[in-house]
Amino acid sequence: MNSSKLIDGKAVAARVLAQVKNDVQALKRDGIEPALAVILVGQDPASQVYVRNKILRAEEAGIRSLEYRLSADTTQAQLLKLIAELNDDDSVNGILLQLPLPAQIEETRALQAIAPGKDVDGFHSENVGGLSQGRNVLTPCTPTGCMQLLEDTCGDLSGKHAVVIGRSNIVGKPMAALLLKAHCSVTVVHSRSVDAQALCRQADIVVAAVGRPRMIDARWLKPGAVVIDVGINRIEEDGRSRLVGDVDFDSALPHVSAITPVPGGVGPMTIAFLMKNTLIAAVQQAHAQAQPASSEAPCLSIS
Ligand code: NAD
Repeated sequence: MNSSKLIDGKAVAARVLAQVKNDVQALKRDGIEPALAVILVGQDPASQVYVRNKILRAEEAGIRSLEYRLSADTTQAQLLKLIAELNDDDSVNGILLQLPLPAQIEETRALQAIAPGKDVDGFHSENVGGLSQGRNVLTPCTPTGCMQLLEDTCGDLSGKHAVVIGRSNIVGKPMAALLLKAHCSVTVVHSRSVDAQALCRQADIVVAAVGRPRMIDARWLKPGAVVIDVGINRIEEDGRSRLVGDVDFDSALPHVSAITPVPGGVGPMTIAFLMKNTLIAAVQQAHAQAQPASSEAPCLSIS
């Protein structure tokens, strides 16, 4: 395998986390201790693993974590009350509500209840709108991590043609908005697109977020394209269970100039940017609380 083509998400995520840790230490010297509240409703096994990993990474980065494990029969009113309390608590900077939620809770209502400044997942409509207007708001962690990988790999993205495959609120749409903000020409391809393959073959940058194992092979790719594979699909193959992306890695590799593997590509970036968003939220809240002309305002600039 030509490893020079591999985009090493693990290494980039480790670098981002190390920087976050440094910045958190600097904030603590100013008397500010960033804190992330993680709420899990119910006992979904995958969600339990995600929450445990988020708490562990927060601790490693020096971010205080508060864990709220609510029973599967929690009512919407009870969840909204907890979110309201966390919104009002100045010692909490970020609130993460682990999805999916049990059926009795309306997801949009719960996500909209989180104060936009503490919305470290970037799902509140104020942050979604702010991103589409090109404002500096908290942005969803997975696409923000993809942007970091692209900027590391390609440098200036200005003028490049990017094709995003998938239009979910969590990945596809914010990805397209971030690429547009970085001055790419953006095409979004989805389940109703006509000849998605031909559209994709025009792309300098392909971001695949579909959820279909190995759907995108060499026929979808222009020679020299840069490919970011967001997909995480569990399949049974040769008698064992394994994770594969939305891109057929072996078919794509000879055609591309760079590609993320699965696992080890986009996956580690999501959690790294959750920590970075918590740091950004803490800095912004500290600035907002300080008097405009006060010397007490933290002077941290986040890299
Ligand atoms: P989703 O199911 O919400 O959206 C999938 C999108 O793919 C839809 O917009 C749909 O229009 C499009 N699509 C479906 N079939 C298509 C086709 N044949 N051609 C073109 N487009 C098609 O999924 P999602 O939440 O956006 O997640 C996508 C993938 O990314 C999943 O595998 C998920 O597990 C993975 N994911 C990974 C991370 C990470 O941290 N790496 C985070 C979120 C999601």
